[in-house]
Amino acid sequence: MYKKTIKQLSSALQNKDFSSEELVSSYLQRCDSHNSNLNCFISLMPETAIAQARSADKKIQNGEAGPLTGIPLAHKDIFCTNGTKTSCGSSMLDNFIAPYDATVVTRLNEAGMVTLGKTNMDEFAMGSTNETSFYGAVKNPWDTARVPGGSSGGSAAAVAAKLAPVATGTDTGGSIRQPASLCGITGLKPTYGRVSRYGMIAYASSLDQGGPITQTAEDAAIMLNAMAGFDERDSTSAEQAVEDYTKDLNESLDGLKIGLPKQYFDGQLDASIESVIQAGVKQLEKLGANVKEIELPNSELSIPAYYVIASAECSSNLARFDGVRFGHRCDDPEDLTDLYLRSRAEGFGKEVKRRIITGTYVLSAGYYDAYYLKAQKLRRMIRDDFRSALEDVDVIIGPTAPQTAFKLNEFIDDPISMYLSDIYTVSVNLAGLPAISVPAGFANELPVGMQIIGNYFAESRLLNIAHQFQQATDWHQQSPVGFD
Ligand code: GLN
Repeated sequence: MYKKTIKQLSSALQNKDFSSEELVSSYLQRCDSHNSNLNCFISLMPETAIAQARSADKKIQNGEAGPLTGIPLAHKDIFCTNGTKTSCGSSMLDNFIAPYDATVVTRLNEAGMVTLGKTNMDEFAMGSTNETSFYGAVKNPWDTARVPGGSSGGSAAAVAAKLAPVATGTDTGGSIRQPASLCGITGLKPTYGRVSRYGMIAYASSLDQGGPITQTAEDAAIMLNAMAGFDERDSTSAEQAVEDYTKDLNESLDGLKIGLPKQYFDGQLDASIESVIQAGVKQLEKLGANVKEIELPNSELSIPAYYVIASAECSSNLARFDGVRFGHRCDDPEDLTDLYLRSRAEGFGKEVKRRIITGTYVLSAGYYDAYYLKAQKLRRMIRDDFRSALEDVDVIIGPTAPQTAFKLNEFIDDPISMYLSDIYTVSVNLAGLPAISVPAGFANELPVGMQIIGNYFAESRLLNIAHQFQQATDWHQQSPVGFD
């Protein structure tokens, strides 16, 4: 039963082929047997999962079930879950029991979903490999000597290994799309403001966005139906009506206008990745799309702009972890300053400290104009590039990541190389646009994701294109050996 998509599981539950309790027990067993190897989960929640499954079964019996009732899922450990540990991958929050649910969690609970557990992640979502987690690296199910990508690597590896049919993730600069690409699954980053950030521990508030990590685009549409929507508790949540994201999945792609950015295929892109993406685009042409070259002239500047802005925002957001109200507190502080200094020195890992120091520096009086203000200007230029390109084409297509999954420890002491792996994803967050990564083939026997970027609130169109692509290909149906 663990081979099924949400869509298939939902009809099996309605047909009473098995109960939600049986389904959840089988997933929990699978999690138990594979987690020591893959390290996808920080916490598993067997008791509450069984209780949720039983109440879902009652709803199914009473004919009150919706499309997600009784379906198990895993939440990235950045989403607050009432009464359970929410660590954000950090020693700072290792002792933190969330006193409330994130809006995403509330909505998915209300839709009848069952939480199996909380997934491993880069500390405070800072990273592209999942190696910055206090709980250790996650392994990629396609090759356990390699990383699953990050920061939602636990969620991506769990879905790829079929330890959960779906998981939540967050994407500040690529953390849904990049691990989806490296693990051979589907990841949707919605338009900024489409999904509530309430109860999602903040990294860089102007960039953070939650979304689903699934096997198929159709499942992503079903999930987005439940996750999206205005939330008065998030001041940046969009007051835009939620569509039924499943309704356009079968629309024809005839006449679809695809833009291929010259800057994405500039000769620096690895040839094996490029050929996978070009073949994916050809497939879409066969389905009726027209392709043209476009320009995103400032793409190269997206990494420096992103790392200045994200670090600046994180230095401010993470100031709340001071050892006073929640999280780690050092032993026997001498005075208040000692409490702050030692609690933070002990609670945060190396990458988080690097970002806080960088962020504090770029915001400091003498350097604000030279770095932060400049980065904000670049952000506007990058957004304008996308806006003008999207006047001519419906979507922009390119790779999700410049490489397949790298080896564990390959970049651990080389942050700049790690940052460069975000080249195709961060600009989308700077612009606030939606994008989806879909499996498009393999290079050196490792999965490669194709990224489709759309206009603001064009999630339906992206899901339609991704679904049509998945109807015509079977890349998303491939499973890593040992997990099929
Ligand atoms: N790799 C990027 C970073 O470290 C993106 C992370 C994310 O999207 N959360 O900032």
